[in-house]
Amino acid sequence: DQNTSTILVTGGSGFIGSCVVRTLLSRTGLRVVNVDKLTYAASPEALAVAAGNPRYVFEKIDVCDGPALAAAFARHRPDAVMHLAAESHVDRSIDAPSDFIQTNIVGTFTLLEVAAQYWRGLTSEVQAKFRFHHVSTDEVFGSLGADGRFSETTPYAPTSPYSASKAAADHLARAWRHTFGLPVVLSNCSNNYGPFQFPEKLIPLIIIRALEGKPLPVYGDGMQIRDWLHVEDHVDGLLAVLLRGQLGESYNIGGYGERPNIEVVRTLCTILDDLVPSPDGPRQRLITHVADRPGHDVRYAIDPAKITGELGWKPAHGFETGLKDTVRWYLDNEPWWRAILEQRYDGGRLGAKA
Ligand code: NAD
Repeated sequence: DQNTSTILVTGGSGFIGSCVVRTLLSRTGLRVVNVDKLTYAASPEALAVAAGNPRYVFEKIDVCDGPALAAAFARHRPDAVMHLAAESHVDRSIDAPSDFIQTNIVGTFTLLEVAAQYWRGLTSEVQAKFRFHHVSTDEVFGSLGADGRFSETTPYAPTSPYSASKAAADHLARAWRHTFGLPVVLSNCSNNYGPFQFPEKLIPLIIIRALEGKPLPVYGDGMQIRDWLHVEDHVDGLLAVLLRGQLGESYNIGGYGERPNIEVVRTLCTILDDLVPSPDGPRQRLITHVADRPGHDVRYAIDPAKITGELGWKPAHGFETGLKDTVRWYLDNEPWWRAILEQRYDGGRLGAKA
């Protein structure tokens, strides 16, 4: 859409945000302003293709810093905001919740205030096309039993400090729409996987540890079910919601990719055994069950009927091929994850149990 000329993306140096930035630059003519604090989770390498692009600008800003945000809005005059900046790792939210409250709740509040103030000052023509897209997770809906799926009207029931902080942020975004008229759209997506995912998350953690012949930690019996979606499919869905979503509405994004964690781990072992056979034999021998995560949700599953029906979105990647491509990507990009392991990864809850 050439009418929307500048998009301000928060968290654009993260796993999903960097895919948003790369996609906006390669598939549209839009200008992209990336607002990111560069926490441990940020990966400037994921934006190597953006460096030098005249349509790309980086602003190192904390979303909790209102004056710095307001100055960036004044400088770049965005026509839309995509808000992805967040603390995103559930295990860390259990060990140290404070940053989650700060960035996910206070940061979202601060960004909404700045965006609303800026939006009020726009001409009515620009105001009418302005969008604030708040990006969230299916974890806000809590845990499912064996049946059913999350729809947009499923009541919120977050269980971890991470999901509670995201739920709070979702409520704030809706309140700014309802109370102040800010043109908000929302989306809640299932678990993502793909290139440039930080090595603390399940899929890269298992790939890397399996390559190194280290124990593969699986929480409890590994029967927790997650609904997996390739990050590029998520980003396609985000652009559909941003450009064509109805104001005030939320859209669930998921591609029927439900798998028990243990099955994901076994599949990764098989893929790796095919691509780089281990002299010590099949890697499933490395699977090690560890004490379950406190309050671990049993099952997540998204019903994507609304985004499919209203916006015509559907995923392009099947889970097995997407997983194979992702394993190949980690094999081809060892310098990227190796540098992270050496320089800015503290091991987390699972990685520390080496
Ligand atoms: P990520 O942890 O990989 O990246 C987060 C980015 O936000 C990093 O670049 C970090 O530097 C930045 N950031 C953190 N705190 C900041 C602050 N105070 N100010 C400015 N920037 C800050 O996260 P991700 O996996 O790419 O997730 C992006 C968004 O998508 C999050 O809002 C997350 O809740 C949501 N989401 C993630 C998933 C998933 O499976 N990863 C699924 C659904 C929704």
